[in-house]
Amino acid sequence: MYSYRAPLRDIRFVVHEVLDFEENYRAYGREELTRDLLEGILEEGARFAEDVLAPTNRVGDEHGLVFENGQVQTPPGFKEAYDRYCQDGWSTMVFDPEWGGQGLPAGFALSFGEMLVSGNMAWRMYSGLTESAALTIAAHAGEELRQRFLPKMVKGEWSGTMCLTESHSGTDLGILKSRAEPQADGSFRVTGTKIFISAGDHDLTSNIVHLVLARLPDAPPGTRGISLFLVPKFLPDADGNVGEANGVSCGSIEHKMGIHASPTCVMHFNDSIGWLVGKPNEGLACMFTMMNHARLGVGLQGHGLSELAWQASIAYANDRLQGRAMTGAKEPGKPADPIIVHPDVRRMLLTQKAFVEGGRVLCFLTGREIDSAHLNPDETARRRSSDLIAFLTPIVKGFLTEAAMEVTSLAVQIHGGHGFIRQTGVEQLMRDARITPIYEGTNGVQALDLLGRKVFGTGGKSQQMISARMVDSIQKFGTLPDVSPFAAELGKRLEQWNKLTAELGAAALKNPEEVGAAATDYLHIAGYMCLGWCWLVAAGVATKKLAENPDDDFYKAKLVTARHFFTRLLPRVDSHMAAARAGAAGLMALAADHFAIA
Ligand SMILES: Cc1cc2nc3c(=O)[nH]c(=O)nc-3n(C[C@H](O)[C@H](O)[C@H](O)COP(=O)(O)OP(=O)(O)OC[C@H]3O[C@@H](n4cnc5c(N)ncnc54)[C@H](O)[C@@H]3O)c2cc1C
Repeated sequence: MYSYRAPLRDIRFVVHEVLDFEENYRAYGREELTRDLLEGILEEGARFAEDVLAPTNRVGDEHGLVFENGQVQTPPGFKEAYDRYCQDGWSTMVFDPEWGGQGLPAGFALSFGEMLVSGNMAWRMYSGLTESAALTIAAHAGEELRQRFLPKMVKGEWSGTMCLTESHSGTDLGILKSRAEPQADGSFRVTGTKIFISAGDHDLTSNIVHLVLARLPDAPPGTRGISLFLVPKFLPDADGNVGEANGVSCGSIEHKMGIHASPTCVMHFNDSIGWLVGKPNEGLACMFTMMNHARLGVGLQGHGLSELAWQASIAYANDRLQGRAMTGAKEPGKPADPIIVHPDVRRMLLTQKAFVEGGRVLCFLTGREIDSAHLNPDETARRRSSDLIAFLTPIVKGFLTEAAMEVTSLAVQIHGGHGFIRQTGVEQLMRDARITPIYEGTNGVQALDLLGRKVFGTGGKSQQMISARMVDSIQKFGTLPDVSPFAAELGKRLEQWNKLTAELGAAALKNPEEVGAAATDYLHIAGYMCLGWCWLVAAGVATKKLAENPDDDFYKAKLVTARHFFTRLLPRVDSHMAAARAGAAGLMALAADHFAIA
């Protein structure tokens, strides 16, 4: 059984050497965010994830949740870890001091978020959802609601959820039925049943603040008639503390393939008192604040699980003795060599490493843009960063969760039959990872968002913007001898990607189904291109560092892994391009009733 060790060396490489967060903060006038301060957070965060959280991960999977008398009990150790998280101030980290927060930049906090996911993904969902809900309330709720709910949520005393899904309404939120009746005092009575609500009930906090999508009586049909309501489990009393129950109940919890320690609840709202967040019928737009935050969070889940799967794999590959190296015994004193001597095992390990370390650059690069979008004094730069985040969000969510499926599956494969057995713990990672391509908008929906809305919806501008950023990096690092083949490869694929985008745009004008037919392959292409960009920059930085210190194994490994990415993983875009060009006709040729069992 593996144990988690926070990958601080690589996190430091990305945070300080590749992206230089400190330099950015200085440019934004946040001089207090020094390297020492960032380092302190990384080190303390690593200690929390390794010592407090990681020991609860296996327990959570094995023990699961108990549902009794309408209440969810979390697994042993969860409450203690949560209390410690709050006492140590982690819950307040990214929030505005106005609400009791520490005002640390949310982009940098992704590095801590990664460690929390690797420590225990199911546990992290409670605090992650609270963060997303509180940010949504801060962004869209009126002053009174913010005063009443945010300080408690920021402290972690009260948690948050997002309540969108109903039994008949998943991807298609336009048909949801929950309703809200206005009351004379300005509040609303919310009634309806939501399903699949993560952290809908639990014993970590004294109150739970639900953000619920529902319809007003006169609402237009479809997504233009959805409003957002804040509905607490318990109403705050006159002093702002937990008061009367509010007609919110958990009917049952789901029995699931993975994330056993995260309650997935059927939630009944029965004439529950709620308050409007944002304007009537504009609830979906407000909820997008939460969904976009949560989508990046899910991409980070994919990445954090990949890191853990990779750690388990390297430990096992160095330990497990089977067969001899093809070039002769490497450990003649032992009955066999460790499996890491075999080229095929190395193929798997390097593939994991390339996704994990490249994925880290992609996540934190998005984090740097998040900070720029909030802190950059230059308005044009802020807008550019927001556009870039919008483009990258479906890629981080969609591509890094697909990568997590591959990386966790490779971990099982590297463990051989032992990977299929519960004892080694890697099958848990594959089961936990499986939800990430599904929730927060399935990856099919992320792909449509990327190609339909982000690419074609901006007339191709957002894709051109990211292409321009890639060209800058190609020019910056392309002259370095060790890196120039990578730059040339990325440049070649970039031309192909631009050409494909134009072709698909022309095809989509004639037939909208062309977008749906090409979208998933397009998402993969965009993902490999973005990862290629990240690997180019990482290899460029490593090369410069090697010029100062040619024997540094860390940087040498970066170049080896970059080569693996450019020679073995980036070429996968060829098949995705062929599939994207294959068009809609073949997919739509069979009538639905011809998909029959012959
Ligand atoms: C463990 C877990 C936790 C969850 N947590 C929450 C939560 O906290 N809050 C919440 O509100 N919900 C939550 N969900 C719900 C989750 O977000 C939905 O399951 C997801 O959005 C998909 O909806 P669905 O299951 O109804 O699938 P459907 O919408 O029925 O989709 C089925 C399939 O059809 C495809 N599809 C559907 N429509 C289209 C389309 N227009 N174009 C192309 N393909 C399409 C989908 O991609 C998918 O492959 C959770 C679900 C699970 C399992």
